Amino acid sequence: MTINVAIIGSGPSGFYTADSLLKSDRDVQIDIIERLPTPFGLIRGGVAPDHQTTKKVAKAYEKTALKDAVAYFGNVEVGKDVTMDELRDIYDAIVLAVGAPTDRKLGIPGADKVGVFGSADFVGWYNGHPDFTDLNPDLNVGAVAVVGVGNVAIDVSRVLVKTPAEMAATDIADHAAQAVQASPVTDIYLFGRRGPIEAKFTNVELREMGKLENCMPIVHPDQLPDEVTGDWSDRDQRLKERNLATMREFLDVDPTGKGKNVHFEFFANPVEVLGSDRVEGLRVERTKVDGGRAVGTGEFFNIECGLVVAAIGYYSIPIEDVPFDSDNGIVVHQDGRVGDGVYAVGWIKRGPTGVIGTNKPDGDTAAKQIFDDVSSGEKAGRDALAAMLGERGVRVVNYADWQKIEAAEFAAASGDAPRRKFVTVPEMLAALE
Ligand code: NAP
Repeated sequence: MTINVAIIGSGPSGFYTADSLLKSDRDVQIDIIERLPTPFGLIRGGVAPDHQTTKKVAKAYEKTALKDAVAYFGNVEVGKDVTMDELRDIYDAIVLAVGAPTDRKLGIPGADKVGVFGSADFVGWYNGHPDFTDLNPDLNVGAVAVVGVGNVAIDVSRVLVKTPAEMAATDIADHAAQAVQASPVTDIYLFGRRGPIEAKFTNVELREMGKLENCMPIVHPDQLPDEVTGDWSDRDQRLKERNLATMREFLDVDPTGKGKNVHFEFFANPVEVLGSDRVEGLRVERTKVDGGRAVGTGEFFNIECGLVVAAIGYYSIPIEDVPFDSDNGIVVHQDGRVGDGVYAVGWIKRGPTGVIGTNKPDGDTAAKQIFDDVSSGEKAGRDALAAMLGERGVRVVNYADWQKIEAAEFAAASGDAPRRKFVTVPEMLAALE
């Protein structure tokens, strides 16, 4: 009998799992359930709009989606349109591929002031994610503080300082493009609570900061060590040496004609957001690194800024009836097995680290476990889900519908932009009428 698998979430980890399941010679049918009408998770809503090459991986996911054994159920929210218990009744296996859609909390005094955003929200806003279309950050500010020195912090900084020409061939949401272009911002401060060696960004992303048309990368030479010391893997050692070399090269970038600055502030731990209701600045404690950890020195300084973006990592949302490890922001599992026919892949399994390809082995593991655990399918699967959603009047967006939405986005693009994104669910559904 056909093994019926529901994958909840249509980002990379969901698609790699579908792909791994299809590679076996077992009789399997896969339904990918997605809360939004649009598929691909962070490829659409997280990867920076100027990193179009990275987004091309969606073409491979499309091939998977178009396989006979696969169906896409977009615009279906688990927990609202259908419950986990109902899915357990109709699927032989359920794969949680829901990622980590919210922010780790900054948790310092003043972090609730107007003008403080988490990067999940801020990135979602400039990427046209419907949940964040109304975020409306006030970019009428001269300086922005970005907390964290990972790739997301770099993405946020770059999008804020690139010129309209540099952003022309991107799919940044219209509302964000307008706000960024109108913004008088000249200075972005990136705060790393540890040093340049401990920074999490990767080298390609760091190097981009030295090649911007109108922006100077500024590092403090006295914060750059002579060499990379510490107990790193060979791979990490090489990455850190490259990063250090890149930061040294930043010291030679010609500032002529560059109207904006991105300041790399290491050994600097934000401890309080300053201001009345709105952000007016950030109080920062100077740190030193001791045994790999940031330790406060008791020396403080303030910077003025009108916006704070905390790019300190993402966090998953607990799923009804599924045990959640709130310390680590993941579901409770044994190498991906959650129990009761449920499996986890991607960030809800591992936490919010790694690049897109890091999700592939998770898919392989989940597929193997499902085939080990389920010898023959016993559940009704797709038809039962379709019937249930039909009775409830849920407007399911299938893959052909998504292709229509996407075609409308392509048709609406102007200039070199690859698409003009719909940024609300009603707009997306209206494109299907
Ligand atoms: P990340 O790489 O984990 O970086 C988080 C940063 O926030 C670190 O510098 C961390 O410092 C800092 N931080 C954490 N808690 C803090 C606190 N309470 N106060 C001050 N600083 C704090 O996370 P991310 O940038 O969100 O990226 C998530 C994943 O997506 C990463 O694997 C990343 O490489 C990937 N990604 C890749 C790309 C790309 O390839 N272009 C683009 C975007 C994202 P500590 O190290 O001291 O904890």
